[in-house]
Amino acid sequence: MRLILMGPPGAGKGTQAKFVAEHFGVPAISTGDIFRANVSEGTELGIEAKRYMDAGEYVPDEVTNKMVRNRIDEDDAKPGFLLDGYPRTLAQVEELDGMIAFTGHSLDAVVCLTVDADEIVQRLLQRAQVEGRADDTEDVIRRRQEVYAEQTEPLIEVYRERGILISVDGMGPVDEVTSRIFAALDDVQQS
Ligand code: AMP
Repeated sequence: MRLILMGPPGAGKGTQAKFVAEHFGVPAISTGDIFRANVSEGTELGIEAKRYMDAGEYVPDEVTNKMVRNRIDEDDAKPGFLLDGYPRTLAQVEELDGMIAFTGHSLDAVVCLTVDADEIVQRLLQRAQVEGRADDTEDVIRRRQEVYAEQTEPLIEVYRERGILISVDGMGPVDEVTSRIFAALDDVQQS
């Protein structure tokens, strides 16, 4: 399975990505996690990415695309993968299309988690307390939401037109959302 998990900041992508990836036996590839790992290791990539992350902006496409290309090339991602937080721009969609076409495969589905705006702010503020992420302050959360609306929301239409978009209600208990995603994806796997 080659899957994408989309949704606004705080929709629960990271949490669900781990369950879904395990269910289908593919690695969950989170660009946010890879950037954060680089930030804590103080790599050159981390130093560059941090400037953007702390401001709630997207890391430039060239940097992000190269990182994903390298990750997808690793052996564990050959049978499939679940992308969490990538692609986020139209340029990244194109780049990903090229990467997948090169392997002779295609994208199976794009799951988009839908959550209402009030719930998202609550979740992000709670996450700020639990995880202490530097980009979970109120100003940065607001900026991340704007950037999502401007640059990432248009991707939903792109994948809908391709007929591979699955919208899943991301509201409610985590395990219920997981069950909804599994039910939707099991249909894809059988078709
Ligand atoms: P996330 O953990 O997915 O919310 O990502 C945290 C931050 O990492 C984002 O706010 C961006 O600054 C950066 N980031 C993650 N994925 C991407 C991407 N696909 N393109 C550009 N920046 C990204």
